[in-house]
Amino acid sequence: MARMDTRPLLRRLPRTDDLLNRPDLTELASSQPRAVVVDAVRDIVEGLRSRILSGEACEFDADTVAAAAAGLVATRMRPSLRRVVNATGIIVHTNMGRSVLADSALRAVLEVGGNYSTLEYDVATGERGSRHSHVERLIRDVTGAEAAMAVNNNAAAVLLGIAGLASRKEAIVSRGQLVEIGGSFRIPDVMRQSGAKMVEVGATNKTHASDYEQAITSRTGLILRVHSSNYRVVGFTEEVPLSELVRIGRAHGVPVYEDQGSGVLLDLRPFGLPDEPTVRSSIEAGADLVSVSGDKLLGGPQAGILAGKAHVIARLKKHPLARALRMDKMTLAALEATLRLYLDPERALAEIPTLRMLTTPNDAVAVRARLLVDRIIGACGDAYLAVAMPDVARAGGGAMPMADIATTVVALAPRSMSANDLELRLRLGEPAIVTRIKDDRVLIDPRTLTTAEEAEVVGALARVCAAGPAGR
Ligand SMILES: *Cc1c(COP(=O)(O)O)cnc(C)c1O
Repeated sequence: MARMDTRPLLRRLPRTDDLLNRPDLTELASSQPRAVVVDAVRDIVEGLRSRILSGEACEFDADTVAAAAAGLVATRMRPSLRRVVNATGIIVHTNMGRSVLADSALRAVLEVGGNYSTLEYDVATGERGSRHSHVERLIRDVTGAEAAMAVNNNAAAVLLGIAGLASRKEAIVSRGQLVEIGGSFRIPDVMRQSGAKMVEVGATNKTHASDYEQAITSRTGLILRVHSSNYRVVGFTEEVPLSELVRIGRAHGVPVYEDQGSGVLLDLRPFGLPDEPTVRSSIEAGADLVSVSGDKLLGGPQAGILAGKAHVIARLKKHPLARALRMDKMTLAALEATLRLYLDPERALAEIPTLRMLTTPNDAVAVRARLLVDRIIGACGDAYLAVAMPDVARAGGGAMPMADIATTVVALAPRSMSANDLELRLRLGEPAIVTRIKDDRVLIDPRTLTTAEEAEVVGALARVCAAGPAGR
C-alpha cells in the first residue's frame, strides 16, 4: 500500500498560539485556569498530529479543534467526586456514598467547615475541650451506654476495639463469624493488625457456649462477636446469643465486644423490616463494647461509633491508635446533627433520608411511580413503553441482606433503542442517572429519588428521546 502524503494535512494543523489567541479560547482562559486551556489545546493538536501520522483520514478546521479543546477543558475541570441520581432502589449504596445526609447535618457541615469552631475548645472555661464531647452524650442518650466515642469508620472502630482490649492477648471468635466485611477487610486480618492472637472456636455453621468456655485461659483478653449484618449462615446453624456470651465473659472477667455493623438505633420492625438488634438492645444485654457504622442504616456520615462501659471507652480514648483514627470536624458536625435527630424518633424517621427511604410504605412509592409514568408519557409521548410495576428494593451496604423491601418501579422499554443503550445514556448524562436493567427494561425506583430528582429523570428521558436512536 502506498504511503499517504501526510504533509498537506500536517501543514493545515492549526498552531497552538493561533488557537489560544482566538476570542473564544481567550475568553475560556479567563474563566478557567490558563494552564488547563493551554494543555487541552496542545493535547488536541498533538492527538490530531499522531492520527495524521498514522495515516488516518482526519477532518478538522480551526473551529472544530477549538471546540474539541473547550470540551476537553470542561471534562478536566468537572469535579471527579460529584453527585449522581440513584434510581436503583438500593438505599445504602456503598459505591454511591452510602447514606445521604439530613438537612440539619448538611447545615452543620457548612457552619463548622466554614468557621472556627468548638472542636477542641470549651467556651465556658476558655480552655482546651474534648473532641469526643460533641457526640458522647448523644450516643449515651440514644443507646443507653455508659460512655461512647466515634472514630473514622467502623473498620477503625473494630481495629481500635480489639487493639485496646486484646493486644498481646487472646481474642476468642466463632468460626461462623470470621467474615470479610468488604474491600478485603477480614476479621482475621484485623486481629493480626491489632496485635491480638485470634482463637477460633466452633464450626462454620455451629458454635456452642461450651466452645467459648473451653477456650478461655489466663491469656484471654476479649470475646468478640461479629453480628451477621451483611451475610447469613442459613440451615443447620447455631450461634451463641450475646446475653450468653456476656454471662460467660462476666464469669471469667473477660470483656465482650459486639461488632454490630449496620448501626440500627431504632426498632424498624413496625415498618416490616427485619428484626435487627439495636445498639441499645446489645448494651442492655450487657455487652462491654458495641460498634457500628455511621453511614449505613444509621443514616449519617462515614463514622465508627463505639459505645460501652465507661472503663472500656476510657481505655480506648487513651490508646495511641485513637489519634490516628479520629474523625475530622466536618464529619463530626454531621454525626452530631444526625444523632440529635434521634432524640425524637419521629423526627429521625422523617428527616434522615436513609430511614425515610427504608420506611416509606410501598403504597406511597406506588403513587409516585404512577405519577412519574404519566409525566414521562407527557414529556416523551410513546418513545418509551412506560408502566409502574411491583419490584424489590434493597437496604444495601451489606445491611439486612435478606430483606426484600416491597417497592414500585417505573419500567421503561424504549421503542427505538435497547434498554442497555438507554441505561448508558442516562448514566453518561449530567447529572448521571443510575438505573437498573431487568428483563430488557430500564427500572427507575422512586424510593431512592427526591421530588427534584424525579423532574431531572423526566428531563433526561425527554432529552434522550428528542436526540433519537443515534443521538448522544
Ligand atoms: C460494614 C461493617 C464494618 C465496616 O464498617 P465501615 O464503616 O464500612 O468501616 C465492620 N463490621 C461489620 C459487621 C459491618 O457490617
